[in-house]
Amino acid sequence: MRIRDILSSDYVGKEVTLRGWVYRLRKQKGNAFVLLRDDRGSVIQCVFPSSKLDNVTRESSVQISGTVKQDVRAPEGGFEITGTDLKIFQVSEKDYPLGEYQSAELRLDNRHLVLRTRKMIEIAKIRASMLKFLRQWFSDNEWLEITPPLIVKGSVEGGSTLFKLNYFDDVAFLSQSAQLYLEAMIFSLGPVWSLTSSFRAERSRTVRHLAEFSHLECESPWVSLKDLLQIQEDLIRYTIDKTINERKESLKFLELDSSRFRELAQPFPTITYDQAIEKLKSLDFKTPELDGKSRTVEWGDDLNIDSERELTRKMMTPLFIIGYPTSVKPFYVKENPDRSETSLTFDLLGPQGYGELSSGGMREENLLTLSNRIRQAGLDPIDYKWYLDLRKYGSVEHGGFGMGIERLLRWFIGIEDIKELVLFPRTMSRVSP
Ligand code: ATP
Ligand code: MG
Repeated sequence: MRIRDILSSDYVGKEVTLRGWVYRLRKQKGNAFVLLRDDRGSVIQCVFPSSKLDNVTRESSVQISGTVKQDVRAPEGGFEITGTDLKIFQVSEKDYPLGEYQSAELRLDNRHLVLRTRKMIEIAKIRASMLKFLRQWFSDNEWLEITPPLIVKGSVEGGSTLFKLNYFDDVAFLSQSAQLYLEAMIFSLGPVWSLTSSFRAERSRTVRHLAEFSHLECESPWVSLKDLLQIQEDLIRYTIDKTINERKESLKFLELDSSRFRELAQPFPTITYDQAIEKLKSLDFKTPELDGKSRTVEWGDDLNIDSERELTRKMMTPLFIIGYPTSVKPFYVKENPDRSETSLTFDLLGPQGYGELSSGGMREENLLTLSNRIRQAGLDPIDYKWYLDLRKYGSVEHGGFGMGIERLLRWFIGIEDIKELVLFPRTMSRVSP
């Protein structure tokens, strides 16, 4: 039996048997209260005579039989089990390292156990729903899911965040992005997408960077920048709507008010990079510098987290920014033919200051321009021979985008620190557990 079934239909007065773990234990003189967690993460209170639970400890694995009772005082749904029988699979050792209050570091050291807490369980469920509906959207719209390689030879997003790997007698890297491979696939497979880990040796400690993150990427032939914005917008709206609907209980537990997402039905606004800079200037916004001073944002600057926060602080829908300077974007972006210092690119910023959710745009399809860009970026065109071939044999207009799943979750759940959204986070200072 699952706890969820008991909470959602009429079992009052009936005998049930449940397996799970002792989530919380409170012993009083006469009675002991076990909050039982089953293997689907639901909990229910069970009451036993105290003597029956003498050697039971927190996180012991147990099987409980008893009668379902309605009791408005019971936590979690107003049902309770009057226990009649208890079988113990294993008595958990007494030194369980997690209690009510722990430092963030200790919780990260014990992540394998923190996963058993309600908050982590609900986050994991929301994440699973998001992944399901993202996949569903692509499948319904006839995008083909593919699995690109993650051991690669060339950098995609710049050398400074590459993880180097001993590859037999050679050197290789962990993939920062599957994009170049997705581009190779559109010629025979049409619109393609993938969900893989991407790896970036991010040296700055921020609340939105991981060294390993879940990267959703897609690429299609014969699309325009306008098409890409529409695809990104539809994908997010569909996923959020469906997830809210499927995970009502999780949202309730996390005290997330879904009215926060009401405005998502509206079209996401788009502004140009030029307008973004003008706006920041008109707000007299100053960006902090490394030396502690701050300065006005100028045309040509990339938009950092502070600028992004300023631009979306009061918004309730995500915001598209298009037309970034070509110089702040990677080598493969396509220049705007009418204004070559800008590119046919976009970033999507989360509302209320959550910052970049995704980046995308059109890709350079001209062989000569692309080879020059690779050189200008300080990269060796030899490493990109196969990629350049794509511009030799039937090159077409194409584009796509990449979105970090944890970034989407971070905004959706409204949790500042991205580490809290991953079961086993990898950062500069942490690869274990
Ligand atoms: P940022 O400017 O936030 O560092 P980026 O522009 O370097 O990100 P892209 O190369 O555009 O990142 O990657 C596509 C998407 O992948 C980003 O929009 C973001 O959602 C996600 N992403 C990138 N780097 C990370 C990271 N280190 N941790 C988590 N998500 C990331
Ligand atoms: Mg980006």
